[in-house]
Amino acid sequence: MRVGDISIEAAFDGTAVLLPDMWVGSDWTEHQHLLDADGRMVVPVGAFVVRTGDRLVLLDAGVGDVHDEMFDGGELMTSLRQLGVGAADIDTIVVSHLHTDHMGWLEQEGRPTFTNATVHIGAADWDHFVVQAQGGRKRAARLQAIEERVELIDRDGVTIAPGLTTRLTPGHTPGHLSTVISSGDERMIVLGDSLHCPAQLTETEWEFVYDVDPALARTTRAALVREAEQPGTSLLPCHFPGMQSARLVPASAGPPSWVLA
Ligand SMILES: [Zn+2]
Repeated sequence: MRVGDISIEAAFDGTAVLLPDMWVGSDWTEHQHLLDADGRMVVPVGAFVVRTGDRLVLLDAGVGDVHDEMFDGGELMTSLRQLGVGAADIDTIVVSHLHTDHMGWLEQEGRPTFTNATVHIGAADWDHFVVQAQGGRKRAARLQAIEERVELIDRDGVTIAPGLTTRLTPGHTPGHLSTVISSGDERMIVLGDSLHCPAQLTETEWEFVYDVDPALARTTRAALVREAEQPGTSLLPCHFPGMQSARLVPASAGPPSWVLA
């Protein structure tokens, strides 16, 4: 994927199994094509590598070497090597939020994996998941292990690297952070988990069961989709098929339809 002069590549870590009833208030009649023969949705988990100027940026950090009912991960380091990227080459990381499938590789056995990277995290997520340990003590301890590399973000418009700025998109988690990639007259909003599946592009009111503040998540999601209707704007959620970006194409009647682009 490209945004002007900036390249964005998907680095797969594995898959997650989602079930239709994880979306509260959902009706799948129009969206059956998104489910497999068993009625499940198997989605990718991973990270994005962004090359901008002389900087090498990682957006999110996969789930890690985890194999349970929901996640089957462990491939991120191999995927990065296939893109010609070593862990020490990455100078900047943005973690959209502190759910386990976005922070999985930040540390291994209590040591930072990406030894030269500054790790940008939403300040309200740090407070929720580390200070208050709302995701459990174990997750808080894993994050404390990389604390000296962390820079907290508490506002929109912070420049992370050339063409990359922050956008607070709270709701799914309190400090959920999106990254806006801009170059020339093109723009891509890297959404983390503001949207979990393509159906939510049109069904923005569907709540995801792990939204910490479902009402705020709904408002944020609807605003992002409206913004994506602007010309030259695409969306890049973390768990869309093939980890591809989506562009909204206005239909002559009814809600905008979308394409993977
Ligand atoms: Zn996720």
